[in-house]
Amino acid sequence: MKTFFISHPDCALHRAPSSHPECPERLAAIDDQLIASGVEPWLRHREAPLVTREQLLRVHDAEYIDALEAGVPETGRWATLDGGDTYVGEHSLKAAQRAAGAVILGVDLVLENSTHTAFCAVRPPGHHAGRDYGMGFCLFNNVAVGAAHALEVHGLSRVAIVDFDVHHGNGTEDIFRDDGRVLFCSSFQHPFYPHTGADTRSENVLNLPLPRDTDGAALRSAVEQRWLPALEAFQPELILVSAGFDGHLEDDMANFRLVEADYEWLTRQLYGLAGRHCEGRLVSTLEGGYNLSALGRSVAIHLKVLAES
Ligand SMILES: [Zn+2]
Repeated sequence: MKTFFISHPDCALHRAPSSHPECPERLAAIDDQLIASGVEPWLRHREAPLVTREQLLRVHDAEYIDALEAGVPETGRWATLDGGDTYVGEHSLKAAQRAAGAVILGVDLVLENSTHTAFCAVRPPGHHAGRDYGMGFCLFNNVAVGAAHALEVHGLSRVAIVDFDVHHGNGTEDIFRDDGRVLFCSSFQHPFYPHTGADTRSENVLNLPLPRDTDGAALRSAVEQRWLPALEAFQPELILVSAGFDGHLEDDMANFRLVEADYEWLTRQLYGLAGRHCEGRLVSTLEGGYNLSALGRSVAIHLKVLAES
């Protein structure tokens, strides 16, 4: 079965003033590996639309959106959020609008087509962006925008969001905490940036704080014990994935020891769940992943499972 691959050239225009790990070359590294790994023929490419203000307002405050729009700097200048590490250049707003728009399109495509999986190769990432703030390289919460679209426009009542980025999806949790229509599962290194999630008490949030040096065996065990039974019981009508690959052994952004086979296993679990509960409907969206080679290889195996299953 082919998978929709949604991206847009605008996502590569968002760039920091100097070297920064969240760089346009990440998308190029993915493209290269899709060709090298033989996955490319299994993909159906689509261009990401711009998200609309109405779509953003379902998860972000108007004041935050207004501030981002008003704060687009002139050519050659940058504004920053979150103490300086989350940058906004002249093309950043448009890139963020494409990134969120990609997930909207992904949700529309998998709910309306016979091809039920999609991957959004977009940046900036989104899972650290909350209702009224951007941080951790994230401006709009792309996955949350997609989930709200599925709930409000498509009328779904149960959407699962699974976030396996090495950082806690604090923004997604902020947006959907105590919203019983969403089951949010986030695994992350703890203690670590953004220093949230370990003590969350909310029935619809299943956080897995894991120590540094967590390897594939430990992650699999935690997922099997904590996530899979809850996801089966939830019976999602759609699965959204915050696919961050910065827990890879070769990625020095954090200290997990995952390898491609672990992402393959995880993807198979999620795809299996989607097959049992929602006709295989799954939309995955890129979050972190900063070692270019490991990122490309990990996305390729992720897509291989989604596209060839
Ligand atoms: Zn991350």
